[in-house]
Amino acid sequence: MGTPLVDTFGRVHRDLRISVTDRCNFRCTYCMPVEGMPWLPRSELLTYEEITRLAALFVERFDFDGIRLTGGEPTVRSHLPVLIERLSRLRTSTGEPVDLALTTNGASLRLIAEDLARAGLRRINVSLDTLRRDRFLAITQRDALDAVLDGIDAALEAGLEPGKVNVVAMRGVNDDELVDFATFGRERGVIVRFIEFMPLDAQGRWTRDQVLTGDQIVEAIGRVHPLEAVAARGAEPAERYRYRDGGGEIGVIASVTHAFCGSCDRVRLTAEGQLATCLFAIDEHDLRTPLRAGADDDALAARIADAVRGKWAGHAIDQVTFIRPKRSMSQIGG
Ligand code: SAM
Repeated sequence: MGTPLVDTFGRVHRDLRISVTDRCNFRCTYCMPVEGMPWLPRSELLTYEEITRLAALFVERFDFDGIRLTGGEPTVRSHLPVLIERLSRLRTSTGEPVDLALTTNGASLRLIAEDLARAGLRRINVSLDTLRRDRFLAITQRDALDAVLDGIDAALEAGLEPGKVNVVAMRGVNDDELVDFATFGRERGVIVRFIEFMPLDAQGRWTRDQVLTGDQIVEAIGRVHPLEAVAARGAEPAERYRYRDGGGEIGVIASVTHAFCGSCDRVRLTAEGQLATCLFAIDEHDLRTPLRAGADDDALAARIADAVRGKWAGHAIDQVTFIRPKRSMSQIGG
C-alpha cells in the first residue's frame, strides 16, 4: 500500500491533472489572446519519460487512482498515444489500472480517437461552447465546429465513454444555447456539463457579471426539461441533475458560486513540471529542477508531500480576498 497524500484540512488526494503542453490550436477569446502567448521552449517541457516517472510516484507511493491529461490542447503534442500507453501500464497498490482520461477541444479526434483508445485511454471530455458555426468561429477563431462534432462521434465510436461535453457558460456569449445543449446531450447520449466562467483568462478581462451561475443554468434547462438533483457528488466537481423523463443527465461545475474546495482531491502538474495544488494557487512547486538534477524517488516524493501538506483551504473567487493567479487556465492546465 502507498501512503495517501492528506493535507492539513484532511483532504485525501487521488487525482492528478497533467498538462502536456501550453500550446493550443484554438484561440478561445475567453482563454487566450490571438497573438502574443509566450510558448514554453521545448526543452522546458517535461519529456514523456519524466511525466511517466512523476505519475508513477503519485500512483505507486500515494495511491492516486485517476490521471487526466490536459493542456493547452493535449492532442497538439506529438505522439500522445505513446504517453497514454506508458501511463496505462501504471497500477495502483491494489493492482488496478488508473482511470486515464483526456480533456480536449475535440478537433483532432476523428484522426486519433482510435489510437488513443488502443493505447489505453478510457474516458474523454470534449470542450464545446456553442453549437452555432458562426459563433464557434467568433469564440475559437477557428472554423472547426464540424470537426469537433465529428470528433465527438469518433470518440464514442472508439469506445471512449462516457462521453462528456464541457461548456463554459458565459452571459452575453452563449447563454441563449443552454436548452440547445441540453437537447444535444439528450439526442447524442452524452453528458453535457456547464462550467461557470472563472477568472483565469490570459487577458485578465473576466468580470463577475459575465458568470452565468449554476443555479441559473439548472433553472433555465429545468423549465424546458424538468430536472432533479442526483445524490451527493463526493470529490467530483460537477453537481449532477437528471431529467425526470429518463433522458439522461447534465452536470454543473459551479466553481465560482458553489466552490467545492472542501472536497477537492486534485493536484496539477504543469507542462514544465511545476506542481500546483489548486488551479488558483499563487505558489507552484518545482519538480523539474530536482528531477533533472538526479533526485531519487524518495526526494521527489518528499517534495510532493510537502507541497500538498501546505495546500490552502480554497480559492475564495467570490470574495474580496481573492487574488488572481499569474497564469491562465491554458498555462496551468485546465
Ligand atoms: N484544450 C483542451 C480543451 O479545450 O478542453 C484542454 C485545456 S482547456 C484550458 C480546459 C477547459 O478549460 C476547457 O473546457 C475550457 O473551455 C476551460 N476554460 C478555459 N478558460 C476558462 C475560464 N476562464 N473559465 C472556465 N473554464 C475555462
